[in-house]
Amino acid sequence: MDIVQTGSWGFGEGPMIIAGPCSAESEEQLMATAVALKATGRVHLFRAGLWKPRSRPLSFAGEGSRALEWLRRVKTETGLPVAVEVASPEHAMMCLEAGIDAVWIGARTVSNPFSVDAIVSALQGAEIPVMVKNPLSPDLELWIGAIERVYSAGIRKIAAVHRGFTPYDKSRYRNIPKWELAIELRSRIPSLPVICDPSHMSGKADLVPETAQKALDMNMAGLMVEVHNDPAHALSDKDQQLDPEEFEKMMSELQFRSSTCGDTGFINHLEELRNRVDSIDHQLIGLLASRMRISEEMGEYKCRSGVTVFQLERWLEILQSRTRHGLSEGLDGEFVGRVIRIIHEESIRRQDEVMKRLRSAGGCPPAGNDGEKE
Ligand code: PEP
Ligand code: MN
Repeated sequence: MDIVQTGSWGFGEGPMIIAGPCSAESEEQLMATAVALKATGRVHLFRAGLWKPRSRPLSFAGEGSRALEWLRRVKTETGLPVAVEVASPEHAMMCLEAGIDAVWIGARTVSNPFSVDAIVSALQGAEIPVMVKNPLSPDLELWIGAIERVYSAGIRKIAAVHRGFTPYDKSRYRNIPKWELAIELRSRIPSLPVICDPSHMSGKADLVPETAQKALDMNMAGLMVEVHNDPAHALSDKDQQLDPEEFEKMMSELQFRSSTCGDTGFINHLEELRNRVDSIDHQLIGLLASRMRISEEMGEYKCRSGVTVFQLERWLEILQSRTRHGLSEGLDGEFVGRVIRIIHEESIRRQDEVMKRLRSAGGCPPAGNDGEKE
């Protein structure tokens, strides 16, 4: 895909910093926030939601199209370009007419391919950037599908916005980052800029800086941060919005590291460390293959002796001893547990397969104890 990188969108160089309130609530609130953000000198693009897709019908749903006029004032008085969320073709057309500089499709809308189709047909060939938030569920194909739909409408200024996924259980985050999905997205579409929205991920203001730093360390193309002039009285997402001062403090403390460094000493040393990691990975894979070959031998042996694949005491002993060993080597016990569980699952699967094969070849005593198996 020949996607135009954020640095060539015309809003400035470096990681793209998008900031502004969750919702446009009044002309005064919007102007006060925009003026304060402009004064920080750190913002490339001002954001505000006009049409808010709220979970419950009685919540504040945004000021709608009348706020387009307020955004025009933000633009002329502060010089900041402005971005708005679009959830329907009508929103998209109104934004194009009003001279909005960029739009994004929100997480709820991205989850519905029909909505994305309708929006992109209204945006067909648009010159303005279109950002695509991740869908609510960690479904990479759905996210990629929405990006492909935007691309096939002839739009070339595209970015993904990683804002995390709805948790199915209690979580520290409002939306679980699942960083690995953003990494997978970047490996599937290497030219696609991925911006992080630490505000919707965190759900609370004091977690935003830490999450933003993590995003920068993952070499994301920018940040979209919710900033409100008076978060305590915000009409939507009040817990997660920073005030302009908190935003400035966060920005001054964030470490913007470069993804490369021209220094030869650095490159050589990193190369040496990478070679060592490559060699260890090579050995790990060889060791895993040897372990699985032994598992298959065990499967055959157990089958011939009429013994079940899984024995609870042995598994508990493996889990405990490996975790203990890992801890003594300075590893995280939970991490060792996860690794050993995956290895054990694969071992069981292999033993199962051997047993099935032997049985169908008539090489095992009749199985009477399948029910005890894991
Ligand atoms: C928003 O950006 O205010 C918003 C509604 O975000 P999301 O679509 O990520 O929930
Ligand atoms: Mn919001």
